[in-house]
Amino acid sequence: MAHSTETMVAKPMMKCGHAANATSEGKPVCAICVGMKPGADEIDQSPPSLAGRKAICAYSHGANGDRGETDSRTNLPFFEHRPNEATDRYYCGCLGWN
Ligand SMILES: [Zn+2]
Ligand SMILES: [Zn+2]
Repeated sequence: MAHSTETMVAKPMMKCGHAANATSEGKPVCAICVGMKPGADEIDQSPPSLAGRKAICAYSHGANGDRGETDSRTNLPFFEHRPNEATDRYYCGCLGWN
């Protein structure tokens, strides 16, 4: 999956809880959930506030305890909002992009 260079535009939140991470026929979709979860191709028109929230990498980084914590924002790769958890998740690239 190629990474978009359009990082200036905030990606929309999709109803499945992920930020859009792909496009289908020109429309934003969540490639993780499409076909598996309803809402993967529907933009959340009233997305949750991410103010003050932190996102950590979905993969454990073990040794140094650094989970890649960063401010939550929809432009993080594979960003997933987890309203019932203390942190949101994303993928920091630690395992490569392929
Ligand atoms: Zn999704
Ligand atoms: Zn990582």
